Amino acid sequence: MIRDNKKGHSFVKTTRQNSFFEHRYKSFCQHSPDGIFSLSLEGVFTDVNPALVALCGHSKSQMIERSYTDYIPTERLNENIALIQLTKKGSVQHIQTEFLHVDGHFIQIDLTTIPIIVDQEVLGIQGIIKDVSNESARQNQIEEMTYYDPLTKLPNRNLFNIRLKELLEQTDDNHCQLALLFIDLDRFKLVNDTLGHSAGDQLLKVVAHRLKENLNEEAFVARLGGDEFVLVLGETDQPEAAIIAQTIIKAIAKPIRINEQNFLITPSIGISLHPHDGNDPSMLVRSADIAMYQAKEKGRNCYQFYLQSMGEQTKRKLEMERALRESLINNDFILHYQPQVDLELDRITGLEALVRWEHPLLGLIPPLEFIPLAEETGLIVPLGEWILRAACQQFHLWLERGCSLTRLSVNISVIQFDQDNFCQRVIEILEETELDPEYLELEITESQMLNFDSVIDKIKNLRSKGVKIAIDDFGTGYSPLSHLRQIGIDTLKIDKGFITNICNNPRDKVIVQSIVYMAQMMKLNLIAEGVETAEQLKLLVGENLKEVQGFYFSRPLPFLELESLLFK
Ligand code: C2E
Ligand code: MG
Ligand code: MG
Repeated sequence: MIRDNKKGHSFVKTTRQNSFFEHRYKSFCQHSPDGIFSLSLEGVFTDVNPALVALCGHSKSQMIERSYTDYIPTERLNENIALIQLTKKGSVQHIQTEFLHVDGHFIQIDLTTIPIIVDQEVLGIQGIIKDVSNESARQNQIEEMTYYDPLTKLPNRNLFNIRLKELLEQTDDNHCQLALLFIDLDRFKLVNDTLGHSAGDQLLKVVAHRLKENLNEEAFVARLGGDEFVLVLGETDQPEAAIIAQTIIKAIAKPIRINEQNFLITPSIGISLHPHDGNDPSMLVRSADIAMYQAKEKGRNCYQFYLQSMGEQTKRKLEMERALRESLINNDFILHYQPQVDLELDRITGLEALVRWEHPLLGLIPPLEFIPLAEETGLIVPLGEWILRAACQQFHLWLERGCSLTRLSVNISVIQFDQDNFCQRVIEILEETELDPEYLELEITESQMLNFDSVIDKIKNLRSKGVKIAIDDFGTGYSPLSHLRQIGIDTLKIDKGFITNICNNPRDKVIVQSIVYMAQMMKLNLIAEGVETAEQLKLLVGENLKEVQGFYFSRPLPFLELESLLFK
């Protein structure tokens, strides 16, 4: 049969070689982790490997003789047909597409098609399929992390910047106005600090939801971070932006239920209009931000359009903030002390520490001009610690030098008091300065009592260590008597507003009388603040008041002047 020996030998070798390659190819297909298939020139499956069966869930027999295009979503048919045509012409092709799973959903795949060429003729097509669903899920995840806020699922600052830029380009083409609303929640930090971060998070989610549900399709809302949201209204005008701002204020004002408690939160909204208040995204955001600060100054829970004059005011405020930060590093603060006089003992028994800012250029700045800014920026926390430490240190020195003082009063801001580690810091400072806790009286205001539960624990904790608590400016706020009794405090300081008019306003006199009566019943110390005249003093003595503080005796004094009073 084999006539040509040489030829016959090579034929046997080639046949063996072919079967070797065929065997290797089959084994490769069988064990490949990627799906491999063969198509006829008509695009019909002629072979599929186990990995492809596992990937798409269709059995081999279901697939053989069916068209490749039966497994491709309609919207991707054209590109897949083109791919097969090009492969048929002899080139290797590559595409990311989708493939039908037996469940009915489409799998994301990476497909390479290779022409099967024998004797320079394309006889069929071979395909390799890689499942990239996971990769595309990961890609989606990366995209989500880059462009969306994980808490509220709103677009984040990145996506906001991109969308705003796009919107501005469109707006320029159409010559129409665009409004940017900068929304900041009022006193959110306080909510976060007092109720915990998880309650704060829940609150932000509710606010985000309310913002979204009150907007139409064209509006765009994003969370910039913290409690700051922005909203962009395309093709709008000033009256419409005002209406939207009012709607948002109303929507956010509804009580928010967290942990079976109702919370109220309000927004301050600043609005800038394109093109008037800024031509590019950063200018528009800056203008709206400045307007938002003005809304806060106006008393919060309101909206404010940007005005050119606001830029200057905000610049000044920012400069103040920077100076305040620098002064904190450079220690540009001093304490003055105002004596508290015991009328029965007829001598100074207590001192109230009052901070002053020695501004390098502006001179001595009174606390009411910078404490609110320090509170807003959180700088009150380090400043408050400095005040407490400096006052305790100084008071301890005076005691060591033989002064018979019994009380050091230190004012504590609500922000400072609400810090989780507040009590611990007070005790540490007392230890550091070696001042006996019995001497220290912390002055808090009635407004601090609103977060009743957290306040009561802190006060109990501090009092158990011997520290005393006074309610400052008493009579100006709303603190139910039951609260005072439950909390357990040591001293009430009658607000100086009542003392100022005590001689000529019978109503104020009655209020003072009832406070005196109440303090007696509750066995509290009572101090009248702001006593300026002998007449006021006489009247207070008549009302059985034992301790007073005011310009009549002494203004708050720098420590050297005070020493000459203490050691005269
Ligand atoms: P306050 O704690 O009620 O302090 C009393 C304020 O009344 C002081 O003003 C004092 O100078 C003033 N004063 C005292 N006697 C009289 C008087 O007879 N007539 C008048 N008209 N005023 C009198 P100051 O030092 O300007 O402090 C104002 C407020 O600033 C303080 O009110 C307190 O709320 C806050 N503050 C002062 N120092 C500190 C501090 O160290 N920390 C904190 N958190 N707040 C402080
Ligand atoms: Mg005070
Ligand atoms: Mg006061």
